[in-house]
Amino acid sequence: MSTILVTGANRGIGLEFVRQLKAKGHRVIGTARRPSDAPELGKLADKVIGLDVTELASIEALPGPLGGEGIDWLINNAGISSQTKSIATMDAADLRRVLEVNAVGPIMVTKALLPLLRKGAGKKVVNISSQLGSIANNTGGSTYGYRASKSALNQLTVCLSNELKPEGFVCVAMHPGWVRTDMGGPNATLSPEQSVSSLVKVIEGLGAGDSGRFLNYDGQALPW
Ligand code: NAP
Repeated sequence: MSTILVTGANRGIGLEFVRQLKAKGHRVIGTARRPSDAPELGKLADKVIGLDVTELASIEALPGPLGGEGIDWLINNAGISSQTKSIATMDAADLRRVLEVNAVGPIMVTKALLPLLRKGAGKKVVNISSQLGSIANNTGGSTYGYRASKSALNQLTVCLSNELKPEGFVCVAMHPGWVRTDMGGPNATLSPEQSVSSLVKVIEGLGAGDSGRFLNYDGQALPW
């Protein structure tokens, strides 16, 4: 049994992570911006903690309710999309917001939880990125802010991996596929169940040599 913390766990891919990891017998801590509005998460998770990944005070308060227990896996899942589709409609506030949620948030959450991750035996940090963060694959433009935020998250993942590898950590960026959630929409190719069962299988199998990689949900390497 591992202790696993999932951010943005009240709906979508995050909630499905909680469901599947609980079914496997793990101890699962889910975070939500408003725990009182997350009844399904409340029923499934061992513990629910309020967390807004853009609020430093909220991030710094996160370890408190954990009472010093070790965390084996951290799944930085919380994320938003962005509205900015062209240079003509570029909006600084929208760009800042998506960078704040998708890149600054996950690295600050990791920083706050590092003492507890060091106590854990699993030592896995999984940043849920997107193939849209791949610069090599960007032939379509559009979605400026979202792409930039996930590219930034990928870079932060590699920095983290390089720094923490000597301590036995495995830090990866993973694309969950195109998934039928509020973000992915109804036409997406994968159900949350399909995406998460594949992601979990890959995460379980991660070894030291995988740290710093950018992986698809099926375990294939993605180009940076
Ligand atoms: P979703 O259904 O829209 O869920 C997003 C989750 O993130 C919600 O729990 C949301 O909480 C939380 N969140 C948003 N802003 C937050 C903040 N400031 N602080 C804390 N939590 C916040 O999206 P999803 O499809 O499950 O996406 C999960 C992850 O997968 C994201 O990182 C996304 O970029 C990535 N991804 C998804 C797809 C896809 O096709 N679905 C593809 C590639 C990558 P609230 O309910 O409070 O808003």
